Amino acid sequence: MAGDAMTRAGGAGAPARPRGRAEAGLSIVVPLFNEANNLATLHARVLEVARTLKAQRGLATEAVYVDDGSRDATLAAARELPAESLDIQVISLSRNFGKEAALLAGLDHSRLGAVLFMDGDGQHPPALVEKLVGYWLDDGYDVVYTAKAHRASEPWLRRLGVKTFYALINWGARQKIPEDAGDFRLLSPRAAAALKQLPERNRFFKGLASWIGFRQIRVDYEPAERIHGRTTWNLYSLIGLSIEGLTSFSVAPLRLASLLGLLLAAAAFIFGVQILLETFVFGESVPGYPSVIVGLMVLGGVQLIMIGIMGEYIGKILSELKARPVYFVAEHTLKTAENADAIGGPPARSAAE
Ligand code: UDP
Ligand code: MG
Repeated sequence: MAGDAMTRAGGAGAPARPRGRAEAGLSIVVPLFNEANNLATLHARVLEVARTLKAQRGLATEAVYVDDGSRDATLAAARELPAESLDIQVISLSRNFGKEAALLAGLDHSRLGAVLFMDGDGQHPPALVEKLVGYWLDDGYDVVYTAKAHRASEPWLRRLGVKTFYALINWGARQKIPEDAGDFRLLSPRAAAALKQLPERNRFFKGLASWIGFRQIRVDYEPAERIHGRTTWNLYSLIGLSIEGLTSFSVAPLRLASLLGLLLAAAAFIFGVQILLETFVFGESVPGYPSVIVGLMVLGGVQLIMIGIMGEYIGKILSELKARPVYFVAEHTLKTAENADAIGGPPARSAAE
């Protein structure tokens, strides 16, 4: 299955014939949450890229727009998009499931070999797509991921948070998750097939795309400003995603518990020896009350934190065990470049079948 090139009848016109890897085609997956104002601009750019790719490399493309339960007119806008020179799939989820679920829905529905993930807010410059495609087609890379060139514009507290997060998640990991890598990423057919095979429901795409291996390459870029609107991430949801990523990817927090336990035990041992010495050798009576209270509070605090961390993992086990589908599809339409007519939607599909 991996590596199989899915061939497809070409679109309109008679541009360059697909050669070698290009035969597989490229699905561009775009998650959308309240992006009605950005969609037209974005789609115009995607169309342009699709035309260029078709003309220069004979690469067929489709756009997979995943409406992640938007509360504005995103779905209506997506339905109206013109399918010129590329096919358009519009998948509407039954509610807001979050970006990672939307990405999975797009991946599941992608019909062509290679898959490109791109944000719907215009921050991922479509012009860069040609470069990413070049690394795949010309140099044979499987995972072409992008990273913010620098984070100088971000507050230092956030940068520190990011640093700590990656230090923790990569602690002792065989396959390191690259720091700063974003969700703007191209997967070759075999890498996309590998990603589709992963059974877990708690998805952390950055981590998974790195974990699958194959030939990976990093491309630095400067994210553009959003076309309209504001980011949907706030401090709280970022912390949520970090905990999600950490607990689904590494046992570092659990190891931290063992390490802390060890440190505390060592400290207690040294303290105990000191008390023994003071009492028996120097004959001093050791005042106990404050040290007992401090010791109790340290122990109690550390234990509570660690119970919380264990709880995170148990919660994760529970949600994997329940095996609920990651998302439900409310509506699915496909417009092909040749005949722009819509079809009814297939039933919802769970992540692992
Ligand atoms: N998004 C989504 N579901 C959500 C939140 C966001 O599909 O619940 C999409 C959003 O429409 C955008 C992308 O994920 O295309 C990135 O979102 P955003 O720009 O808010 O994040 P940032 O660029 O700040 O990381
Ligand atoms: Mg954004």
